[in-house]
Amino acid sequence: MTANFSYLKAESLDEAVRHLGENGARLHAGGTDLLGCLRDDVFRSAKVVSISGLDRLRGIREIGRSQRGGGLGIGALVTIAEVAEDRRIREGYTALAQAASVVASPQLRNQGTLGGNLCQKPRCWYYRGDFACLRKGGDDCFAVAGQNQYHCIFGGDACVYVHPSDCAPALVALGATVGIKSRRDDRSLPLSEFYILPEDDPTRETTLRPDEIVTEIMLPKPSANTRSSYRKVRVRGAWDFALVGVALNLTFAGSGSDSGGGGKIERARVVLSGVAPVPWQAREAEQILEGKRLDTATASAAARAATAGADVLAHNGYKVPLLQGLVEEELLKLAG
Ligand SMILES: Cc1cc2nc3c(=O)[nH]c(=O)nc-3n(C[C@H](O)[C@H](O)[C@H](O)COP(=O)(O)OP(=O)(O)OC[C@H]3O[C@@H](n4cnc5c(N)ncnc54)[C@H](O)[C@@H]3O)c2cc1C
Ligand code: SF4
Repeated sequence: MTANFSYLKAESLDEAVRHLGENGARLHAGGTDLLGCLRDDVFRSAKVVSISGLDRLRGIREIGRSQRGGGLGIGALVTIAEVAEDRRIREGYTALAQAASVVASPQLRNQGTLGGNLCQKPRCWYYRGDFACLRKGGDDCFAVAGQNQYHCIFGGDACVYVHPSDCAPALVALGATVGIKSRRDDRSLPLSEFYILPEDDPTRETTLRPDEIVTEIMLPKPSANTRSSYRKVRVRGAWDFALVGVALNLTFAGSGSDSGGGGKIERARVVLSGVAPVPWQAREAEQILEGKRLDTATASAAARAATAGADVLAHNGYKVPLLQGLVEEELLKLAG
C-alpha cells in the first residue's frame, strides 16, 4: 500500500496547530511510529504536519523555584537518547533515564522524541495488521478471543491492548505534567490524567484533540530522600516492548543517615507497564508501602497487592507471577 499525503514543515507552533485542525492532518515529530502506521495503512491522512523544525521544543530547562516549586521542563522534541543521557535526569529522575535507556534500539532512541513516545499508537498486532477492530472504528476486539499473550491484565474493557510506552509509566510515577498547545489555548494536565481507558473511549488513547500538540513535559523537583527506578521484562534483551514493567518512586522519611532504605516510606508511587491500556497505578501496593520500612515482608506484600484484581486472558496468565517477582525485586533494590 502506498500512502499519499501532502507534507508541511511548520515554521511555528501556531502554524502547526492551524493545519492540524484541518481534514484529519497528522503530526510528525521523529516519524519512527507515524510513518510505519501510514505505510502499513493503520490509518490514512491527506496531510502530515512536521514540527521537527521547531527548536523551541528541543531543550531541557531548569524550572525556577518560583514556578511550580522548581523542577525540569523537557521539550517534546527532545530525543529519547538525550533523555537517557542527561545528567540531571539520571541523577534526579533515575526512573525516567532508566526507562528511556531501554526504549527500542539506539537508532530509534536517536530519532524518536519524548513527545512521540507518549503519543505513540498501540502495538496490538490486530490493530497494526489488516483488521478493522474496535479501536479502528469496527465492531469487535479480535484479541479478546484471539492471540492475546501480550495483552492486558488490568483496565481492558472492550479493547485489551497494553500501552507501549516505557517513558510514560516512569513519568507518571515521577508526578509529571504535560503542557499542551492548541489553536484556542494552552493547557496543562498531570500525565496520569492524559490517557484514556477503553471503557471511556475505545478509539482514543489520549485526551489530545486533533489540533493539540504536546509541547513540554514538566517534572517536579524531587525531595532529597526520594529514590526511583524503572525496569521491564522483555522477550529479547536487545530491544523489545515490555511484557511487564514497573516504575517506582519512593520518598523516605528522615534525613542524612536516617534517610533512604532505613527510614519509613512516606510516599510511594508504583506504576506498571505492559499490563494495561494506560500506565497503571498500583494503588493497593502503594498503600501497603506507605508508613512501612522497606523490608522483605513489605516488598513481598506490596508485590502481591500489585497484581490483585488481575483479569487474565486465555494466553497471558504468565504476566501475574512475572509482575509479582519483578515488583518485589525492584522494591528490594531500592531498599539496599
Ligand atoms: C521497532 C520499534 C521498537 C520500539 N520499541 C519501543 C520500546 O521498547 N519502548 C517504547 O517505549 N517505545 C518503543 N517504540 C516506540 C518509539 O519509542 C516511538 O516510535 C517513538 O518514541 C515515537 O517518537 P517519534 O518522535 O518518532 O514520534 P512520531 O512517529 O513522529 O509520532 C508518533 C505519534 O505521536 C504523535 N505525536 C508525536 N509527537 C507529538 C506531540 N509533541 N504532540 C502530540 N502528538 C505527537 C504523532 O502524531 C504520532 O501519532 C518502538 C518503535 C519501533 C518502531
Ligand atoms: S486489543 Fe484493542 S487494538 Fe487490539 S484488536 Fe482489540 S480493539 Fe483492536
